[in-house]
Amino acid sequence: MTTCPSDATEFTVGRLLESGAVYLCRHGIDADEARNLAEILLSEALHFSGPRLQFEAQRQVEMPLVERLREQFRRLANGEPIQYILGEWPFHDIVLKTDARALIPRPETEELVDRILKCDHWAKATEIVDIGTGTGAITLALAHAARGSNKHFTAVDLSPDALSLARENAEALGLADVVTFVEGDGARTLKACSCDILVSNPPYIASAVVDALPKLILDHEPRLALDGGEDGLDILRQIVLDGTQVLRPEGRIFFEIGDEQGLAMQRLLERAGYSNVRVVKDFAGHDRYVEGTLL
Ligand code: GLN
Repeated sequence: MTTCPSDATEFTVGRLLESGAVYLCRHGIDADEARNLAEILLSEALHFSGPRLQFEAQRQVEMPLVERLREQFRRLANGEPIQYILGEWPFHDIVLKTDARALIPRPETEELVDRILKCDHWAKATEIVDIGTGTGAITLALAHAARGSNKHFTAVDLSPDALSLARENAEALGLADVVTFVEGDGARTLKACSCDILVSNPPYIASAVVDALPKLILDHEPRLALDGGEDGLDILRQIVLDGTQVLRPEGRIFFEIGDEQGLAMQRLLERAGYSNVRVVKDFAGHDRYVEGTLL
């Protein structure tokens, strides 16, 4: 098969899965990944969840759906991320609209959300600020978990595009009432002593490393969301300082960081006056989060 999946006379689920995966493999995608991607596309197209595909291998797929799938396989083979092709992706307990306006939310960031939900300050916190909100992932996952509470969220981003996507996500999730969106650089535009929890998963990749990222990322996701300057710490440094102005006493700061930035961030936070500074590993065993308290 040269194009995807075009010469099939019968479009059954099983055949589309098979030919789609083979097509992706021929375009340089590793076999397991190709099978995975084919399964995700088919499951989404047919609104199946879990392992149902395996039991529906003989099911016929209607022509318009086959056409849509062919187009999606083509885009995958061209190196576009599946999250942008589908236009939505699950994150924590919500589903977010995803497109080229903002970074695709990553599974590591779900753990950052969990760390905040589990922290002993969460119950008391009423003002939560997310710097570099992107799709709105962190803010909206927290706001969803806090539905019905008196918590208020501020989601800041430099990029008007990202903010427009985050706003659309907030509206789709029925959370627009509890979030204020601010176009700005860091937390500088916020009032002094105005927040209980400051969180950020900012661009933290060193510029030279960004240049060497896989094409899947580099050609599609916004560079602004990735590039953290020469040592990757430019924006993190700024937010550490911003936090000393905007956090209330007992306020907490939470970051997602690069796996080689733990020690540097620990020092930065301690020097800026934060206490109980901790570097925490992600599920893969890499330093990924750093947190502290401003007493
Ligand atoms: N905060 C958003 C996220 O976690 C965006 C991150 C970014 O653009 N660096 O997905």
